[in-house]
Amino acid sequence: MSDTTPVKEGAAVTQATLVKKAAPKSDYKPADVSPQRRVQRTFAVRLWSIRHSRLLEWFYSRFADAFLLLHPLWKGIGYGRVEAPVKFVEKRVKGFMFDCRMCGQCVLSSTGMSCPMNCPKQLRNGPCGGVRANGNCEVEPDMPCVWVKAWEGSRNMVHGDKILTVQKPVDQSLRETSAWLRVTAQAAAARETAQNPGASA
Ligand code: SF4
Repeated sequence: MSDTTPVKEGAAVTQATLVKKAAPKSDYKPADVSPQRRVQRTFAVRLWSIRHSRLLEWFYSRFADAFLLLHPLWKGIGYGRVEAPVKFVEKRVKGFMFDCRMCGQCVLSSTGMSCPMNCPKQLRNGPCGGVRANGNCEVEPDMPCVWVKAWEGSRNMVHGDKILTVQKPVDQSLRETSAWLRVTAQAAAARETAQNPGASA
């Protein structure tokens, strides 16, 4: 039996059918992203975070300081041991606020609080040439380009010009690790080096 039986007059029409019919026929549609699923995604929280990038920049700065203050605790327990519980929290908090993909090398502070890993091409240094006239992504037509949003978010931030810093390619070996702990460990090491410049010689 065929799936293409015409819908009878008065028969119930599903939301999926309506969305499919309404979708522009010329738009490229990735095989794994249905028009219905794209419409269901509103990006509301992600866009809220970008609109409040200045507040989040201030908050993250305090949060990073607090994490650094706890360095003796992390070191005492062992960074390896606290990795799993910290990652559990980080993944959920940043997943909710930024649609974080846990790349392990967070650049939110340099990208207007817009996570570049949400770019379907995972570009870390600006948009591709395919941004639509309405500022949306060429691959996911209903999603605002993460780099257009990154620029908007960066304009609200005190250190927004960090968006001009060229980012290194993603180190895939750091995926699913805690960026919070990595940044803390690196800051602690830099502080110790500054306090004892001869120790590392
Ligand atoms: S840059 Fe990486 S760690 Fe930061 S929010 Fe995006 S995926 Fe998560």
